Amino acid sequence: MALLQISEPGESPEPHTRRLAVGIDLGTTNSLVATLRNAVPECLPDDEGRTMLPSAVRYAEDDVEVGYTALVHRGDDALNTITSVKRFMGRSVTDLRDESKARYQFTTASGDGKGQLKITTRRGSVSPIEVSAEILRALKVRAEESLGGELYGAVITVPAYFDDAQRQATKDAAQLAGLNVLRLLNEPTAAAVAYGIDKYVDGLDQDAEGCYLIYDLGGGTFDVSILRLTRGVFEVLATAGDTHLGGDDFDEALAKHALDSWQLTRALSPAGQANLLAASRAAKEALTESEAATIKVNWGCGFDSSVDVSRETFFAITQPLVERTLSAVKKSLRDAKLKVDQIDGVVLVGGATRMPHVRAALEAHFGKPPLATMNPDEVVALGAAIQADQLAGNAKPGEQHLLLDVIPLSLGIETMGNLVEKVIPRNSTIPIAKAQEFTTFKDGQTAMAFHVVQGERELVSDCRSLAKFELRGIPPMVAGAARIRVTFQVDADGLLSVSASEVTSGVRAEVAVKPSYGLADGEIASMLQSAFTNANDDMQARALAEARVDAQSLLESMHKAFEEDRALLNDAEHAMLTSQMGYLKQLAQGNDHRAIVRASEDLNRASTEFAGRRMDKAVQRALAGKTLDQIA
Ligand code: ADP
Ligand code: MG
Repeated sequence: MALLQISEPGESPEPHTRRLAVGIDLGTTNSLVATLRNAVPECLPDDEGRTMLPSAVRYAEDDVEVGYTALVHRGDDALNTITSVKRFMGRSVTDLRDESKARYQFTTASGDGKGQLKITTRRGSVSPIEVSAEILRALKVRAEESLGGELYGAVITVPAYFDDAQRQATKDAAQLAGLNVLRLLNEPTAAAVAYGIDKYVDGLDQDAEGCYLIYDLGGGTFDVSILRLTRGVFEVLATAGDTHLGGDDFDEALAKHALDSWQLTRALSPAGQANLLAASRAAKEALTESEAATIKVNWGCGFDSSVDVSRETFFAITQPLVERTLSAVKKSLRDAKLKVDQIDGVVLVGGATRMPHVRAALEAHFGKPPLATMNPDEVVALGAAIQADQLAGNAKPGEQHLLLDVIPLSLGIETMGNLVEKVIPRNSTIPIAKAQEFTTFKDGQTAMAFHVVQGERELVSDCRSLAKFELRGIPPMVAGAARIRVTFQVDADGLLSVSASEVTSGVRAEVAVKPSYGLADGEIASMLQSAFTNANDDMQARALAEARVDAQSLLESMHKAFEEDRALLNDAEHAMLTSQMGYLKQLAQGNDHRAIVRASEDLNRASTEFAGRRMDKAVQRALAGKTLDQIA
């Protein structure tokens, strides 16, 4: 996630020192990795030229296999060949649907089904995070081999509906695979970025600001998202779909059709079942290009069966599935309170959107053809690659485009005693403006220094420094009388500007903080984590800092009083107060905030008499030479 910080001269990478950054689509069925080459995003292929890596991991006797090699044994080593692991990410056994539970042997840490879920394999039990890490590691290796260097970081996509636990699990998997996660990006947003929908905001085509429906039909899941784009910020207006509807259901419909035509009544073995599904899937994919295809299964022992299927038949038996996707589309439109004609474009995502009757149904529903110029399998990874390149700081200044929706860490200002006063709390959506009033610390103070920081901790030294500036020309007043209004403003591009003005005189100063991409999500997480774990320490530190500030201000006013009214004290009183002040000054350099508070209170008490005499003197001076009329 992009962060606000000062980009200092010379800090942005030189053109020849581009950082290697990739986008990863960690899919339920297939995963891909993409990068930007000469400003064009492209998916990186394996040795055999295939860009897709099946999201399958097999725990073999003495090896862990990933991708196509793992899939080979899906039928004969089902318990050790894990597919669709994305369904289990951040979930407990109780969250799972029955047929998912039936596929593997699960254990949980807590034993009550609510703890972290683990899958039992011949190589021990593995968590979904570990399984996903295997897939990510394979993609990392592929990327590093093909790019010839170590990766700086990756943007990993997740479904828009993924909750915190699922997102965190995805990040953990990436960390386990040794990837630096630049950001998690919603899959529909990534697809929209790949189509360059966000680019139009720069004045090329204002009409492109608008609402887009992303229709994602993958292998086992169907997601619809409606995004609204305004000034470069994507907002998810609605999500709908079915976590158990996808290309696999079309395979199953064909398999059932084949079994019916063969009039096979005997139950199939797991291997036979797997073979039939693979043949049905091949036929389904062939029907995208041809008018007819054959489902052919070799059952072993020289026995095989085959059946021809026409496109017409295929469309007829699977039309109910297409209708189900359309009901979800309608639901998402209702939720977003939009009419069909308010959708500016329909973006196709997922291999299963290649099927012609899916496209035809969408065209009929929206009255215009969906956007289909890009490869629907690759579009999510391509969009992620574009984001990754920007987050790695490779984009030229004018071409940077932020997808900043919320502020990831609080923004605040340093106050006396090295403390942070938060002005805009984290997770505020942008654009946003907030103001807060501060005051002077010393009598007659005419300038004030501001230090803008970012982070959750109480002490400035634990936060990230963003900018410093000064306000000069404050009219001299007693300490605490000036009213300095500090305004923080973050615009839709993530640009922070901070201004300060003295309310009575109107003097102003301001600073603009440019966005750049210093912190990775991991750093944000660790900064947040340390804010939680250090909360107690921080409170102690704050108490100490406050006690010191109070003591210092008390000492300062005592010195001033001595200067003006030493005559009101006899020598013994003066010596006594001087010694107490020395003691407080000494304590204020130590770390015992309670002792400082006590000594300040003692000094306050001991000087009450002195303060009374000064007050009397001031009143007498004010009254001197005035008539009773003037006083009343
Ligand atoms: P996921 O997002 O779940 O990882 P994908 O986007 O990779 O899934 O989609 C996989 C699905 O797309 C599979 O069901 C596959 O059969 C289907 N698919 C891929 N190519 C075609 C094609 N040419 N015609 C029809 N379906 C296809
Ligand atoms: Mg997908």
